[in-house]
Amino acid sequence: GDKLRLDKLLSNMGYGSRSEIKKAVKAGKVAVDGVIAKDSGLIVDVSLQEVTCEGERVEYRSVIYLMLNKPAGVVSATEDKRDKTVIDLLRPEDTRLAPFPVGRLDKDTVGLLLLTNDGVLAHELLSPRKHVDKTYEALVAGKVDEDDVNRFASGVTLDDGYETMPAELVIASVYETGVDGEGRSGGSEFRSLITLTIREGKFHQVKRMFQAVGKTVLTLKRLSMGPLTLDESLPEGAYRELTDEEVEGLK
Ligand code: URA
Repeated sequence: GDKLRLDKLLSNMGYGSRSEIKKAVKAGKVAVDGVIAKDSGLIVDVSLQEVTCEGERVEYRSVIYLMLNKPAGVVSATEDKRDKTVIDLLRPEDTRLAPFPVGRLDKDTVGLLLLTNDGVLAHELLSPRKHVDKTYEALVAGKVDEDDVNRFASGVTLDDGYETMPAELVIASVYETGVDGEGRSGGSEFRSLITLTIREGKFHQVKRMFQAVGKTVLTLKRLSMGPLTLDESLPEGAYRELTDEEVEGLK
């Protein structure tokens, strides 16, 4: 519900550690409905009562929605024994409400990752029945062609026998690198820059779909998830809160 301890409320909102808040309360800096609070363990109802700290109103918010441009080399988890996680990229004040990544991107995949503590929204976005579309940009070795476009449109069979749903493959460009695989000029290799929209989220799905047509994904970036699009002004590793409009769009 909307009831919680005064010290928890203030620490969630970034007013300091529990002990710092205890001191602030002792010093008479915190008031509830205009009455100086004496006990930092006081239970307040944030939907009914007004809390102030040094005369300033404390806005309470219990949900957090962050858009991260995930860099390569970090894992989409909250904890990991070996690797740095996406949570390690957050400023400490943004970890208090315990956001977690909605779904996973591979360690080497970059781009849009939503982090939230809104379990209901996360569940909706990840539900296999909802078919939320995800668009990826990939650099693929070799020449992606119309045959691949048609195969992806009718669904391909992954290495474990799974038949994918129809997916939209768009070829942005096919070009020659001018060097061979060993970096020697003379020989040459082709690269294809594509976007792919899928409506499901099997493990390594994009990489495995290309594997199914005999091609290799070299780099992968997620551009969008449902109505949420990566803010291209965010460098890799940077994040921002979603706007109210973006949050509404997801619901
Ligand atoms: N598909 C993949 O292969 N990897 C990702 O990280 C996301 C989709």
